[in-house]
Amino acid sequence: MEISFNEKVVLVTGAAGGIGWATARMFAESGAAVALADLSEQVDARAKELTEKGYKTIALHCDVSKEEDVKRMVEQVVTTFGRLDIAYNNVGIHASVRKDLAETEGWDFDHVLSVNLRGVWNCMKYELIEMKKLAGGAIVNCSSQGGLVGIANIDAYTASKHGILGLTKSAALEYARQGIRINAICPGTCETPMVKHAIEMSPEHMARVIDAIPLGRMGKPEEIASMVLLLCSDYAGFAIGQTWAMDGGYTVM
Ligand code: NAD
Repeated sequence: MEISFNEKVVLVTGAAGGIGWATARMFAESGAAVALADLSEQVDARAKELTEKGYKTIALHCDVSKEEDVKRMVEQVVTTFGRLDIAYNNVGIHASVRKDLAETEGWDFDHVLSVNLRGVWNCMKYELIEMKKLAGGAIVNCSSQGGLVGIANIDAYTASKHGILGLTKSAALEYARQGIRINAICPGTCETPMVKHAIEMSPEHMARVIDAIPLGRMGKPEEIASMVLLLCSDYAGFAIGQTWAMDGGYTVM
């Protein structure tokens, strides 16, 4: 079985690092033209790295929490590559502090929800407008193991990630008959800049989190990316509205 995305145009958000970067790279290596979008200007270097290897890529600057930015991002993809077939809505952030709910601030909650949940809604809205024109497409939204179970002290994050699963299921039903498949993945703890930062902030807590993974190790960004590619391929042609946990067994218990 070999997955090829020849002739396909793919958008990956949050592609400057971590899981998004691994996914963008693997799509490019599998034949797709790839738009790498991120808030960070580091995305320019990522796209350049792929272009220098002969792949078709562009870098786009976008804050997914801003609807106008997202509209422009999708328009730029279509202006550059002519269409949009596949999107991986990967961006996710944590609140600025990890504390009990009553010790956190409303603006912090709103910010996390605006990026993680409204960001996915913004992206899906403009991606679907383009995919409807093709009467086909595939979208994968990035939730988390924190979208399946509660995790103390990251209330806004888990609320947003549970919300992404609701959005995914409803939108999947709306667009199933239009040939557009929408699914979600739930990564567990992976070796990315986000987790590196968490380990620096709270080493003892993160040591316990990693110890609790049944596989006994963190995931690699490529292990999440490979599931995204599978879900976007024809091999997953009968899967819609589903949640795929890639968490080393964390949510099995
Ligand atoms: P990361 O922090 O390493 O990368 C996220 C990228 O998103 C960064 O390049 C950042 O610049 C970009 N970004 C942040 N805010 C943005 C915005 N408003 N608009 C556009 N881009 C923005 O993250 P990661 O660890 O690779 O995680 C990727 C996804 O996987 C996230 O949704 C995260 O919640 C989820 N996830 C990760 C883990 C993990 O252990 N790494 C576990 C569960 C879920």
